[in-house]
Amino acid sequence: MMSEHRKHHVLITSGPTRQFLDPVRFISNASSGKMGAAIAKTALASGHDVTVITGPVNIQYPVGCNVIPVETTQEMLEAAQAIFPRCDLLVGAAAPSDYMPRAVSDDKLKKTGEPITLHLVETPDIIATLASAKQPQQIVIGFALETSDHRFQALRKMEEKCCDYIVLNEPTAMTSEENTVRIFGQSGKELLAMSAHKSEIADAILDLCFKPS
Ligand code: C5P
Repeated sequence: MMSEHRKHHVLITSGPTRQFLDPVRFISNASSGKMGAAIAKTALASGHDVTVITGPVNIQYPVGCNVIPVETTQEMLEAAQAIFPRCDLLVGAAAPSDYMPRAVSDDKLKKTGEPITLHLVETPDIIATLASAKQPQQIVIGFALETSDHRFQALRKMEEKCCDYIVLNEPTAMTSEENTVRIFGQSGKELLAMSAHKSEIADAILDLCFKPS
């Protein structure tokens, strides 16, 4: 738990990342960046310094936050590694591409008339990389978007990614203004369950970290 009154530095990863197959084609996902923007707005309104590392999105982040645009998961990781040591809180609201092509073609891939096989390899996990080496006073919050075994998968991800909290949600969250979430702490206890506008969910997430319980 961090002091409610001190000014904190909040780092948010937001939006999708892109992994190119060739100069014009990429793998990505439907993340809008809206949850990251809502958290940025709440954190700014509470007087905190806010840095948002974002993949390509069609939204504007609130005026006043430091926005670092990136394209790939590796770029998002490198930008986060440079800033995280100076941060009190990391919110992993991004949906980075978990896989990238094993090789990127310099030339545009040609149609062959036959099915093709893509060889994909895993990208680095940004919050796991940062949280596994974090200082004790730093807080890391992850999101888990699940389609089955929701609670089990969310708790597994919280442990694997060394997070202090995990926010469980479902695919309907991806482009919506609203979200339905359950937030778990490290003990596995459900601390909050709510269905609301993303701005209200952002308030609740920051309250968990910054306000005395
Ligand atoms: O494993 P999964 O993608 O479901 O995990 C979601 C959480 O992990 C989110 O908080 C997301 O921002 C973070 N993540 C990450 N780096 C990745 C993949 C996911 O930081 N490469």
